[in-house]
Amino acid sequence: MKVTAAVVNGEKRDFELEEIELDAPKDNEVLIKLVTTGVCHTDVAGQDGLTTPMLVVLGHEGTGIVEQVGAAVSSVQPGDKVILSFSYCGKCRNCLEGHPGMCEKFNDLNFAGPNFDGTHRMHKDRHDLSLFFGQSSFATYTV
Ligand SMILES: [Zn+2]
Ligand SMILES: [Zn+2]
Repeated sequence: MKVTAAVVNGEKRDFELEEIELDAPKDNEVLIKLVTTGVCHTDVAGQDGLTTPMLVVLGHEGTGIVEQVGAAVSSVQPGDKVILSFSYCGKCRNCLEGHPGMCEKFNDLNFAGPNFDGTHRMHKDRHDLSLFFGQSSFATYTV
């Protein structure tokens, strides 16, 4: 689907509001209509090219409403109001001991660019747009 996102098209570039393509959620994913997002210094670090490969949609303090859920999702349903958070693997020792913020794959899952499965949900022309902090909340919708 077409959505609007604040894209950073290169290191230290301004945010540019653009129409991008957002893929449908996979089985274990949800489509969120974003309602609010904070702006944090970590987003500025991302804009400066210090965290995540360009091109990127930043934003990591989003709230929104669940619009659609994948077939394997049971924790939320359409209409739920949600706060978005970071990605974690759920399988490493730290995750299993209740500390997902210390996930051993934290950097890969939140800053490397692709989703957990190595693919991207946001695209612009022929470019894949990096996922940021598991959410890329500077957009009207995210997966
Ligand atoms: Zn922050
Ligand atoms: Zn983990």
